[in-house]
Amino acid sequence: MTTRSIELLRVVHQDPGVTRAAAARRLGVGTGAATELVTKLSRAMLLTQGPAAPSGTRGRPTTVLLPHPGGPLALAVAITHEAWRVEAVELGGASVTALSGRHAGATWAEVRDAVRAALHELRLRYGDRPRAVGVSVPGTVSRDHRLEAVGVGWHDVDLTELWPDAEIFTAGNDATLAATAESHRGAAAGAALALHLRIEAGLGGAVVEGGRPLIGARGAAGEFGHMPFGDPAVRCPCGARGCWGIAVDGHELARLLGEPVPVDPITYARRLITAAAAGPGRELTAVRAIAATLGRGVAGLVNALDADLVTLGGLGADLLATVPEEIATAYRDGLMSIHRDAPPPVVPAALGDLGPIAGAAEEAWSALLPRLA
Ligand SMILES: [Zn+2]
Repeated sequence: MTTRSIELLRVVHQDPGVTRAAAARRLGVGTGAATELVTKLSRAMLLTQGPAAPSGTRGRPTTVLLPHPGGPLALAVAITHEAWRVEAVELGGASVTALSGRHAGATWAEVRDAVRAALHELRLRYGDRPRAVGVSVPGTVSRDHRLEAVGVGWHDVDLTELWPDAEIFTAGNDATLAATAESHRGAAAGAALALHLRIEAGLGGAVVEGGRPLIGARGAAGEFGHMPFGDPAVRCPCGARGCWGIAVDGHELARLLGEPVPVDPITYARRLITAAAAGPGRELTAVRAIAATLGRGVAGLVNALDADLVTLGGLGADLLATVPEEIATAYRDGLMSIHRDAPPPVVPAALGDLGPIAGAAEEAWSALLPRLA
């Protein structure tokens, strides 16, 4: 397979349904060469052609390029503190099947076995089409795919156990992957320096500059939840005091309401935010308090990074929908005056809860694309 073929696949991956003419222009090749490439890739069961939706204008019918229905798949896995989800994702990023389950409080071995069984089921269903796997996890991932997830108590876990003989295995932190996906296909597309923050149990995030996330020397960058924007009286599971992440999630809501920390802190927090949306009460007071802590910290990061856009995912999006004024006021108050005239927008992540799995699929696909020879 030539470089040009791979480039054409990349164009269709980025923009499935692109017209053959537009794809040819992007590659800088003539229509004859484009037709030849498309024919070759169709025979290799990588692409298919379809008629474009009628545009109402006269002229020659337009052909659009789509993933081949029998083409390769990336399996994407997203594991959160409470649930797991596995998807089979075709060229272009669309999911063709999803399997999911819940696991709050389970050991790594239990979650691993459930996910492994789901991956196995998809491989049985799709034969040799699954060629790569991308995994999103709620913790830090080393370059040799080992996971540390303090929030769920999983230490030095070997993620490759999920599919030991996978041809292509990629894995990453959920917030980093969500940030990448948000920059490729979501609300942060086109931003110069986007800050993505994701609250689930704790807070994670990533800085994405020109579409590329900052990963760090050991793959652990973006742990903004462990910056000391919280209450110094509170000890975080990571060992430090005053961490921001546990001051903006279900842990802090439980503390403010004098309730025990729940085993399902994400569902718990979402229930309280829903109750807060219904009107005044102790839930609303608690939710306002964490929203202000969130806004203040976002301002600090915008000051530090000079971001031009902030996207909030997970519970951050719920808070933005429910108590936007609390976030906005604390955010503006915390900004340096050079940013205050035109504060960088703080918007909900467009991919919502599917950001991490979309990012996991994206990682697997970018590793797979050059190998489609
Ligand atoms: Zn911490």
